[in-house]
Amino acid sequence: MPAATRVERLEARERNPKWKNAPFRIDMSICINCDTCIRHCPTQFGAIFNHGIDVVIIPELCSGCRKCLPPVCPVDCIYEDPDWVPAPGEWWEEPATDDPYS
Ligand code: SF4
Ligand code: SF4
Repeated sequence: MPAATRVERLEARERNPKWKNAPFRIDMSICINCDTCIRHCPTQFGAIFNHGIDVVIIPELCSGCRKCLPPVCPVDCIYEDPDWVPAPGEWWEEPATDDPYS
């Protein structure tokens, strides 16, 4: 069954296969950890999290809606990532422990 809802995506750790846009990634060497993007990622996606000192996008949750891009991100460090790889396992712990959307 396609991961059509955020809950299903969290359970299956899968992107919605119907999403046409690539997910985005944060260049952590440029990011200033201001957390603004976290507040602007729509709740139905909820793809951005604090992970330790980093701010990360879980690509499987990111629809590519672009709502986190400048002027939201003040340093323009969020890039389209067509060659994305699955999120590390520990990133998936964040939605349960540090979910700003719950
Ligand atoms: S592109 Fe959209 S879904 Fe992806 S992290 Fe940015 S705001 Fe969230
Ligand atoms: S808005 Fe940009 S600088 Fe701020 S936390 Fe997000 S990616 Fe980092």
